[in-house]
Amino acid sequence: MDINAPRYIKLHADDNVAIVANDRGLPAGASFADGLVLRERVPQGHKLALVDIPAGTAIRRYGAIIGTALADIPQGAWVAEKLVRMPEAPDLARLSPPSTRATQLPSLDGFTFEGFRNPDGSVGTRNVLAVSTSVQCVAGTLDFALQRVRSELLPRYPNVDGVVGLTHTYGCGVAIDAPDAAIPIRTLANLARNPNFGGQAMVVGLGCEKLLPERLLPDGAPPSDIMRLQDEAFHGFGPMVEAITEMCRARLEILNRRQRETCPASDLVIGLQCGGSDAFSGVTANPALGFAADLLVRAGATVMFSEVTEVRDAIHLLTARAADAGVAADLVREMAWYDAYLARGGADRSANTTPGNKSGGLVNIVEKALGSIVKSGSSPIVEVLAPGARPSKRGLIFAATPASDFICGTLQLASGIGLQVFTTGRGTPYGLAAAPVLKVATNSVLAKRWHDLIDFDAGGIATGTASIEDTGWDLFRLILETASGRNIPWSDRWGIANTLALFNPAPVT
Ligand code: CA
Repeated sequence: MDINAPRYIKLHADDNVAIVANDRGLPAGASFADGLVLRERVPQGHKLALVDIPAGTAIRRYGAIIGTALADIPQGAWVAEKLVRMPEAPDLARLSPPSTRATQLPSLDGFTFEGFRNPDGSVGTRNVLAVSTSVQCVAGTLDFALQRVRSELLPRYPNVDGVVGLTHTYGCGVAIDAPDAAIPIRTLANLARNPNFGGQAMVVGLGCEKLLPERLLPDGAPPSDIMRLQDEAFHGFGPMVEAITEMCRARLEILNRRQRETCPASDLVIGLQCGGSDAFSGVTANPALGFAADLLVRAGATVMFSEVTEVRDAIHLLTARAADAGVAADLVREMAWYDAYLARGGADRSANTTPGNKSGGLVNIVEKALGSIVKSGSSPIVEVLAPGARPSKRGLIFAATPASDFICGTLQLASGIGLQVFTTGRGTPYGLAAAPVLKVATNSVLAKRWHDLIDFDAGGIATGTASIEDTGWDLFRLILETASGRNIPWSDRWGIANTLALFNPAPVT
């Protein structure tokens, strides 16, 4: 295949525009394989008209309306920003109702992975000992104890993949009863229930913190699941470390008996995220991930996508994909909550596309949001989760989180993901200690430069060497391999992970 041959990328059968894939764009007269000829120069990442688009009619990309033509745009012309009237910002009071277009995709049978089944029915992709904490004061002591656990105990338990301290900056000096405090408290309680931890909860607390350790454990948990450094039984630092080590030892004994077993793909819970995006995020990696997300949902799995500020300006397209009116109402509830949260902080939600976005070919915020939500595929949205909440259904779920990489990662872990897929164009060495993260590059230049950090290259879609469908299938298979422990992502091989970051919209005192 001639990689210099003119190529465009069309993302949906209904689209009347496509983007130019070639480096440095294409000149007037460039002729595509299907016979279409460019009437003028079109820069890379910018749109060309696939058919004549009369003035006043819809311009469609991602199968959605990104604007209206302000003049007649002939076939083969550059659909430049000045020719596109931006759609009205979605008004939360007047959103599309659930549409019949959000139909269930045909089921996909026979796909399995090797996972760790838990007593509550959930399935982990890793076998990890996690130690919860109720306050930051204990973090240093816990880290000290866990270093000893890793070096002295862990080698004796070969079936256990690792030991993680769920440390954070919460617990002291917080408005514990403020309405929004429910978010960090719920997050910490649900983090300990992540399927990768095997149900072996324990909490290290201090003794005078506002966040009581009991609030992080399920009802009826035995007192032996909690230790407090201020307990008068401890004469000095050594006995504290010994007590933490002993609690860990008892749980390692249990976790070491966990074995991988063949589980249907429907037991998977996969989180999706992007960060460090570029002009190709919405063209290569996110559409391929969307295809893989559809395969996962068709196989019965649970897939969560997030990042409220990335989807807000295309929310009318998500409410149209809601499985029912209740789900649509829940989407509106989370958008309205975030609008109010940002307004309270004086943030300008309506900040338009950046100059970098525009030079990359994105004409407006609707098109930008479409490039983000395309990673959710085309399945109906069956449930909406408040930040850090756990799902009650399988299928495609919107888990409301900020777009911040580490906060989104922390909240999705609390919502129960066993694995996260992370798309990036500019690159980030992001990782999570509690769950494997597959990093997907939007372009092959990054994938080659960061050959020992990037797990999957979706750039072939832009260079014309791979289709969205084939790339999506490859990514789907890699997700199953990684969930089975047969593929270890680069961040896990290096042992690099970001610290947990709670979302605390409540006051600090
Ligand atoms: Ca992000």
